[in-house]
Amino acid sequence: MTSDFYCDEVLNGRTSVDVVAETEDILAYHHTRPFWPVHIVVIPKSHVPSLTDLGDADDGLLHRLLAVVRQVAAGVEREHGAARVLTNLGRYQDSKHLHFHVNSGEPLR
Ligand SMILES: [Zn+2]
Repeated sequence: MTSDFYCDEVLNGRTSVDVVAETEDILAYHHTRPFWPVHIVVIPKSHVPSLTDLGDADDGLLHRLLAVVRQVAAGVEREHGAARVLTNLGRYQDSKHLHFHVNSGEPLR
């Protein structure tokens, strides 16, 4: 496994994904190996290390990212009646590229 699945696999097209929403600088897609029955990942298309380390990103990008997170989460909440939104930090963060998980249902594993 790479430490940045998003830059190394998704954003360069090596791994194809099922897109849920996309803007000029944000991508939301169904997780390729879901942990929950509904599992969507929302990422910036440019490299941003984490929520607590925005790197070169500005607040505008974070705002646009959260706008997509809200839109995707609202859709999941509407369709399934409940949703979780989470992002991991430090050693909990497997891929060192800021990503929000939007999920619903009981864990698959
Ligand atoms: Zn990256």
